[in-house]
Amino acid sequence: LRDKLVTTEQMNVISELSASISHEIRNPLTVTSGFLQLLNKSESITPQEKWYIELSLQELNRAEKIVSDFLAFGKPQSVNMVHCNFKDETEYVKNIITPYANLHKVSVELNFSNTLSKTYDKNQVQQCLLNLYKNAIEAMKDNGGILSIDVSSQDHNIIIKIKDTGIGMSNEEISRLGKPYYSTKHEGTGLGMLMVFSTINKLDGKIEVTSQVGKGTTFLITIPTP
Ligand code: ADP
Ligand code: MG
Repeated sequence: LRDKLVTTEQMNVISELSASISHEIRNPLTVTSGFLQLLNKSESITPQEKWYIELSLQELNRAEKIVSDFLAFGKPQSVNMVHCNFKDETEYVKNIITPYANLHKVSVELNFSNTLSKTYDKNQVQQCLLNLYKNAIEAMKDNGGILSIDVSSQDHNIIIKIKDTGIGMSNEEISRLGKPYYSTKHEGTGLGMLMVFSTINKLDGKIEVTSQVGKGTTFLITIPTP
């Protein structure tokens, strides 16, 4: 347990640093990729030059993915603290992920019955939920499925359950979750879960993962309220 705690602390530092660096590189990324797209339309470039431009755009796209795992919402430096019950955040992220879910034949169900509130950073919680929903959908992209999100309360805890019917994970794979750059995906960043663990850690919460290969995965998040 002690090892795990130390690791989570380190993760916090890494993910916070990454978030601020991400913020700084987002603008140059956008500008560069805009100009490259313009160049790509030029009729005077050779096929080889076109190929170079397309490679550069691909690489920028990859950098953009890394940034997105940390910074889809707001700036890391700005404070977005609210005292709330996670309803707005779970709904908002559900709405923005729905087109992505539809694309992969995944239906999203949200069940909300939580009465407890907690003080948290709105943008960070949205980012955390986005990363979890996205992973769930990506685990179901071959055959479609159901992503169910359940927010309830028990004793003094807020309970968030995120369940998919996707490819699942072995115990070994579960144990590697959240390690920087651990990804089994062709175009994965391996940074999404790092951000998730860091956010839940800041809320003094814990995450339990249960998974069955070929059946699906459930993330059970327990967040204590004072
Ligand atoms: P990425 O999504 O870029 O690969 P993440 O840190 O978000 O990086 O996830 C790391 C890895 O954890 C994924 O590549 C995948 O193998 C595994 N994973 C995470 N969530 C799920 C899930 N819901 N079902 C199956 N595997 C998952
Ligand atoms: Mg991910």
